[in-house]
Amino acid sequence: MALTGLQIFKLMPKTNCKECGHPTCLAFSMALASSKIALDACPYVSDEAREALGMASAPPVAKIVFGAGDKMRETGDEVVLFRHDKQFFHPTCLAITIDDDLNDDDFDARLSEINSLSFERVGEKVAIDAVALVNKSGRPDVFAKRAGQIASAAFAPLLVSDSPEALAKALEACAAEKPLLCGANEGNWKAVAELANERDCPLVVSADSLDGLSDLAEKVGGVTKNIVLGVRSAAPVQKLAELTQIRRQAIRRKTRFLGYPSFVPVCGKDLYDQAAEASIYISKYAGIVMLDITDKAALLPLCALRQNLFSDPQKPAQVEPGIFSIGEADEKSPVYITTNFSLTYYTVESELSSARIPCWLIAAPTDGTSVLTAWAAGKFVADKIAELIEELKLSEKFPHKTMVIPGYVAMLKAGIEEKSGWKVMIGPNEAAGIPAFAKANFGNA
Ligand code: SF4
Repeated sequence: MALTGLQIFKLMPKTNCKECGHPTCLAFSMALASSKIALDACPYVSDEAREALGMASAPPVAKIVFGAGDKMRETGDEVVLFRHDKQFFHPTCLAITIDDDLNDDDFDARLSEINSLSFERVGEKVAIDAVALVNKSGRPDVFAKRAGQIASAAFAPLLVSDSPEALAKALEACAAEKPLLCGANEGNWKAVAELANERDCPLVVSADSLDGLSDLAEKVGGVTKNIVLGVRSAAPVQKLAELTQIRRQAIRRKTRFLGYPSFVPVCGKDLYDQAAEASIYISKYAGIVMLDITDKAALLPLCALRQNLFSDPQKPAQVEPGIFSIGEADEKSPVYITTNFSLTYYTVESELSSARIPCWLIAAPTDGTSVLTAWAAGKFVADKIAELIEELKLSEKFPHKTMVIPGYVAMLKAGIEEKSGWKVMIGPNEAAGIPAFAKANFGNA
């Protein structure tokens, strides 16, 4: 049972030294009770108190690790229900299925398709995380052979079978890759839990109801604590309800046997159903989502959604301010300016690249805000842009002294020209208009 703030306070040093970043030991105790701080933040807790506070200081959702080396993934270890309360830390892992009963050519083709599922978005690499081998054949020898093949895949392995024998055989081929075993149920849990414990692999446990899941997690917890909770209801709305209940029980009530990350398979019949369903589970609160699709046009938006949700809401994603060359630009090439908000910068950069006219792009220092937000906050205004021209010594680098500004801030033209002596051209409002604008104005450059 979790301790209250006052119960924790009784065990604290009560010196109010503030070294933990809180003004009093009582404030620290309250923060610890609501999992907003770790016990280690106070250097003066006695060993006896530390032992007594074990449960209060444990993360409400355990951290589970699967995969090895570069392919290692962490899930769980979340401390809040809502992103704006603090931050979500471990992005939902996306696992793509591959059936073990495919013929050799089809298996190789699907595996190579899965291996290619990585993208670049706003300057970061985003990708799926795992390849889930499904024991469709029902045969341990076939499952083991395919497990050996996915051991060398680009992503961490999941082994999906409810046969202890098939899982044991597959582990002989890929145990070093620390696969996530999926899984244990009411009928096989003892054998599968012992196998997972012996091989030091995490295990997905599944049951027909939330109560059943909690009971099974308690039983499996007697063998291994390396647990992921499988949510296997038929309807997406039911899965969403269970995922939400699991997170609420773990964070608000500190329900011990639901304090693990969750695993949810997507059941949608077509590409769009699968993508829509997965987006629901990424938003609330799946640790691992298993899908059948390999379509990049569907997976990139899921990766983008995940990338946005699992960022620090208090820190806008931003690029280093400065001036950057696009293509083989020289002193005669056009100069564009935008803000250093990652999404804005990379959208503009991508459109400029697609125009295939070498140019320069300035990322103005606006603390990662978009063009109109930065303008409204006084961070992207004529004075600041004129100062930036001076600071970057742009007049020495570009004799043409001409700059293209975003169409939304056309009102800055006169001010920039007056304060910097540069000529200002008004670009399009939306980045999508850049290629046509560039070709019309600099097509012969
Ligand atoms: Fe109290 Fe420890 Fe914080 Fe000091 S560091 S105020 S002793 S909780």
